[in-house]
Amino acid sequence: MLTIFLSCWLAFFPVSDINEIQSMFYTKQQSVNKNDVSRFLSTLYPDEHYKQEQKRWFLDAVSFIDPKSFQMKVKSYQMISSNYYQVVITQTYRKKNIPYTFTYRTEVRKTKQGWKDADSLGYTRKKGAITVKYSDPILLLQAERAISILLHVSEMLGDKYVQRPKVIEAKLYYNPEVFRQSVKLSLPTWAGGWNEARQSIKLVIGKSDLSSLTHGLAHEYTHQLISYLTNDNAAYWLQEGAAMYYEALISKETPHIDRDFQPYTISQLERLNLEELSDEKASDYYVSCYIQFKKLIHQYGEQKLGNVFRHLHRYPYIDVDSAIKQKQTNQRTFHILQENNILPNQLHSISDAYLKKTNKNIL
Ligand SMILES: [Zn+2]
Repeated sequence: MLTIFLSCWLAFFPVSDINEIQSMFYTKQQSVNKNDVSRFLSTLYPDEHYKQEQKRWFLDAVSFIDPKSFQMKVKSYQMISSNYYQVVITQTYRKKNIPYTFTYRTEVRKTKQGWKDADSLGYTRKKGAITVKYSDPILLLQAERAISILLHVSEMLGDKYVQRPKVIEAKLYYNPEVFRQSVKLSLPTWAGGWNEARQSIKLVIGKSDLSSLTHGLAHEYTHQLISYLTNDNAAYWLQEGAAMYYEALISKETPHIDRDFQPYTISQLERLNLEELSDEKASDYYVSCYIQFKKLIHQYGEQKLGNVFRHLHRYPYIDVDSAIKQKQTNQRTFHILQENNILPNQLHSISDAYLKKTNKNIL
């Protein structure tokens, strides 16, 4: 019985494919355990967005998990064509000696350099410069809606800020854990969307929730636009403020703000690390960013804010995660706000501490 099963199996899957795919995932595993980023990147399908996303994933993983604890095992194979497989991977690692296991399906494609990991989204819709990839066939309708929403949002914000990214790619995930694991292992579980410079917009979405889709895409597209306009030099609070403001404008739904809510000042926002906050504190952070950005827009207008974004573009790009470069982007943003005579002391809720900052060495 075992012999018959094996021969059937081998008849469907060439041994060389299986060996090479296993070997590729072993290389990926060992590159994490040995902290070898170039070897890790060599296992990836040549897609610029995916490579950038995975580079961030790698740098997070090697500092987040217990050393040498990462394992990837191919659990099953499905051959789609001679150069394309869908495989199921069981991934394990330890964090403070506690084991974590996650099983997910991913694509594997054959290139001239051998078999490569090609991401976990097997389905695509495309229109003009907009591409939407999605993880499960039940998200087809949402993918089509996403294209219309992105078209509308990019045109609306393009009118305001003149320039816009030439290529827009969004990735829709049905399973929140597949989303989280694809961004970075340390991502808090409350996160439902993600975008960083030179990456795709990533969003967790149900099969029929139009409101969340509009909110999520408006928010994440704004991040992409601000990264593009500023060479990814905008402070974290400014990014979140703009994203919350345009999310509200496009969805026509403003965030709920308690009457007695005391927003964080810009100075406080600069010191907080959003990704380390609890669900409740994160919500306060977002609402505070929204309030601060809205004040800037009402006082100075979009044209002046557009100048701030363009002036931030003069600084060189720092190729690390936004949370890691938060100190530098705070300094750069502060400097450009001053240069454009956007003086914080005209805003009641921006604290004196912000004005009294002496560290004005940029960059
Ligand atoms: Zn955001």
